[in-house]
Amino acid sequence: MTEIKAKQECPYCHGHADLIHAEDIQGDIEFAEYVFLRMSDDYENVSYTTEISYCPKCGRKLEV
Ligand SMILES: [Zn+2]
Repeated sequence: MTEIKAKQECPYCHGHADLIHAEDIQGDIEFAEYVFLRMSDDYENVSYTTEISYCPKCGRKLEV
């Protein structure tokens, strides 16, 4: 698989898979007015976000 194809098919930055998926913890990439990584703790009912510029999995530059 070429690097370009891997980036086109990366499920994490195309919204098809969560970066982290555990019983109470989820992490995914969100696209809003900017791109951010969101970590949610459903047990504590809190979430944290941080702005990102590149997919942490495939390295694709993320823009909205
Ligand atoms: Zn990706």
